[in-house]
Amino acid sequence: MNKIIYLDSAATYQKSKKVIESQVDFLRGGYANAGRGICARSVAVDNMVGYARQRVADFMGAHPGQIVFTSGTTAAMNMIAGMLGLGGDKIVAVSDLDHHSARLPFAKSLAKTIVMPLNEKLDIDINQIPYADVMVVTAMSNVLGVAQNVPEIVRMARNKNPNVVVVVDAAQYVVHEKIDVQKWDADFVVWSAHKIGADTGLGLMYVKKPDAYNPVIFGGGMVNKITNGEVFLTPGPEKFEAGTLPLTQIAGVGVAIDELEKNRPDLNLIKYMYDQLSMLPRIKILTRRDATVLTFVIDGMHVLDFGARIGARDICVRVGNMCATWIHNLMGVPGTIRLSVGACNTMDEIKYTVQVIKDIVK
Ligand code: PLP
Repeated sequence: MNKIIYLDSAATYQKSKKVIESQVDFLRGGYANAGRGICARSVAVDNMVGYARQRVADFMGAHPGQIVFTSGTTAAMNMIAGMLGLGGDKIVAVSDLDHHSARLPFAKSLAKTIVMPLNEKLDIDINQIPYADVMVVTAMSNVLGVAQNVPEIVRMARNKNPNVVVVVDAAQYVVHEKIDVQKWDADFVVWSAHKIGADTGLGLMYVKKPDAYNPVIFGGGMVNKITNGEVFLTPGPEKFEAGTLPLTQIAGVGVAIDELEKNRPDLNLIKYMYDQLSMLPRIKILTRRDATVLTFVIDGMHVLDFGARIGARDICVRVGNMCATWIHNLMGVPGTIRLSVGACNTMDEIKYTVQVIKDIVK
């Protein structure tokens, strides 16, 4: 192998030629601001943003009026926690599957945080869904790579409290499974464009009832009129989008969705590695064979040591706590090694990687 093998798609996905071209075309030939002008070029950018909003909505089974552009999952989670205005009498349910981005914005509010139990397979325990005012559901952990039963979790949560606000972190789920917001019935669903091969700096936030919430970020592009000092906001998702949008990223997101729908990561590559690595006595695999990632630890070798050694062989993997401290605490390990695949990977690369790992742990 004489090129880098990238096995960290769960952190961020490589960009295809088509996505890059759509962004470059916009930068070179169509650049202007959106929602700000009436010249032909501005109108074309408005149309481009409108098309992207529609494409994201179709992709998630939503209405375009329910899709808000943010700067990422993290930004969306912070925005939601702020919009809900959580006081000390509120209960927020989280789980140990959460990424720091999903839990901390809520845990740092004044509300009381309770942790939903996981079952013995480390899935959210459907039979122990608690009463909550707000529930954060990680649809797929970035460490364990298993889809959670979101519709059932939401149904049980609403049984306990019909007014519960359910917030779904779909940052990993979106790569591997189709999101259907109608089936999920959540109040918010968020993901980051860079995880599916579009660019960093763009997040997608589905809001079931945009009229029910007020924005927490104020500025240009969200104001309909100001009369006698009273501010009337633009109706629809734009009221949550103060300031200039990440237009170059938006130019690429529709193409990234088209490509993802045609070509999701081949999970046979993960299964192959699982089968091969599970035969090595020093390796302890922590994920299931059918998971979307392969996460493991090595007996007698620090994960950072492994990361450095495999990195020196031009193979990029993720090592550490993956911004998911709680699941690591639950599994009793400070850090893990994660292999994840995207459309960029081939079976030859995977076979070579297995050989290198065998060599490192022999
Ligand atoms: N949630 C999960 C499950 C993730 O895997 C990530 C990114 O690794 C995030 C949230 C945060 O996404 P971003 O850093 O794009 O805001």
